[in-house]
Amino acid sequence: MRYSTSFAKTSKTAPHDTESVNARFLTQGGFVHQEMAGVYSWLPLGLRVLQKVSTIIREEMNALGAEEVLLPALQPKEGWLTTGRWDSMDDLFKVPSRSGKEYALGPTHEEIVTPLVQQFVKSYKDLPVAVYQLQTKFRDELRAKSGVLRGREFGMKDMYSFHASKEDFEAFYQRAIKAYLQTFSRCGLDAKVVEASGGAFTKKLSHEFQIITPAGEDTILACLSCFFAQNSEIATYKASDRCPQCGGELVMTKGVEAGNIFDLGQRFSEPFNFEVSLEDGSRQKVFMGCYGIGTTRLVGAIVEASHDERGIIWPKSVAPYHIHLISLGSKDRDRQAHIQSAALEIYETLTNQNVEVLWDDRQDSSAGEKFADADLIGLPLRLIISEKTLKEESVEWKARAETEQRLVKVADVLEEVGQFLKPL
Ligand code: ATP
Ligand code: MG
Repeated sequence: MRYSTSFAKTSKTAPHDTESVNARFLTQGGFVHQEMAGVYSWLPLGLRVLQKVSTIIREEMNALGAEEVLLPALQPKEGWLTTGRWDSMDDLFKVPSRSGKEYALGPTHEEIVTPLVQQFVKSYKDLPVAVYQLQTKFRDELRAKSGVLRGREFGMKDMYSFHASKEDFEAFYQRAIKAYLQTFSRCGLDAKVVEASGGAFTKKLSHEFQIITPAGEDTILACLSCFFAQNSEIATYKASDRCPQCGGELVMTKGVEAGNIFDLGQRFSEPFNFEVSLEDGSRQKVFMGCYGIGTTRLVGAIVEASHDERGIIWPKSVAPYHIHLISLGSKDRDRQAHIQSAALEIYETLTNQNVEVLWDDRQDSSAGEKFADADLIGLPLRLIISEKTLKEESVEWKARAETEQRLVKVADVLEEVGQFLKPL
C-alpha cells in the first residue's frame, strides 16, 4: 500500500477519550474514527488488524469443529419475551418500527440461535453442534469508555454449543478453554484464565480470559509465569503466595476481559422447549454453552498491552502490514528519483512475495514526520531508503520492538525479511 494514496492518515488531534491509550494511538494512528461515544468507524489500517484477529479466531473455532454462521442483528421481540430478557436485560437496545412493532438490536444471540438449531436437531444423534459468528453487537452501556474497550456498538465472536449430556458439554468446554488460550497467544497476548465469581455459587462453569494491562477494569490476582489467575474479590490466595499451578509469583494487577465462556445449562433450552430424543427413547432438554470474544475490544487490548510512549508495537501476527518502508527525500532531483525507484523496486520485490508493505512514499513530508508516523502506526519492521543508505547499496533496518538499527544490503533484504517473519 502506498501511504500517499490512502485517505485515512495519522493526525495530531487528540481524541475525546484522552486518558485512554488505545483511543489515542488508534485514533491518531488512523486506525479508527470515533463517531459518537462508544461507536467507531474502522479505517483501512484498523480494519486490517480486525481482519487478522478474526482470521485467527476463525481458524481456532473451526479447529474445534464449530461451523460459522451469520445471525441477524435486528431480532424479533418474541424470542426475548420467551426468555424473559426483554424486561430483565438493562442494556438491551429496543427499536420501534413505524408500524408500532418492536425489535431488539442483538447484544448477544441465544434468542436467535437456540430456536434456529432446534429446527434442525431432533435426536441425540444430531448432537453435539457448535456454531459461531463474527458480528456487530449492540449494548446500551451506561458508560462507553476506554476507547474501543467498551463500546455501545462493538465486534464479537460468539459461539454456542449444544449437547445431549452434561458430560459431553464439559468435555467441549475444556477444549474451548485450550482453543481460547491458543487464540490469544497467536494474537501475541498472554491471557490469564479466571474462574468467574458466579461459578462457585451456581455450580455452573464460567471462565474469563484476562489480558494484563493497567487499562483494565478488573482487579485480578495473576501468576507471572503461567495462565493462572483469580478475581481479586473471591481470591483464595494472596499476592505473597506462590501460584498453585506452577509455583510462580502471584501479583495483584489490572486486567481487560477479552473473552468469557459460560455453562448455560438448560437456561435457554427450557423456555424454547428444545428437547432431543435419547437412545432409550426418553426426551431430554439440551445442554448449552456460550463462548464470547470481543474482537474490537481485543484490538484495543493488544494496543494497551503492547505500546511505548511513541505509539503501538503490533505483534507480527496481527500487524496491519509487516513492513513500514520509508523513502526519504533529497534536494537533488536525480537523487530523489533514484531513491524513489530503489524504494519501488524493494516494494515490488517484497509485495510479490506476499510480504505486506506500507510504503510511505509521500514527497511532501519530512523525515521527522515519517519516523514519528512509523512509530505511532507501529508496524513490526521499519526500512528506510535514503541518499545515505543508497551510497552503501543498503537500507536502514529497525524492528519496532528494538532500539538498534543497522544497514542491510538491498540485495539481502528479501532473505532477511523472510527470516524476520519466519514464525508467522
Ligand atoms: P463486561 O463485563 O466487560 O461488560 P460481559 O460479561 O458483558 O463483559 P459478554 O457478554 O460475556 O461480556 O461478552 C463477551 C465478550 O464481548 C466480552 O468478554 C468482551 O470481550 C466483549 N464485550 C462485552 N461488552 C463489550 C462492550 N461494551 N464493548 C466491547 N466489547 C465488549
Ligand atoms: Mg457487560
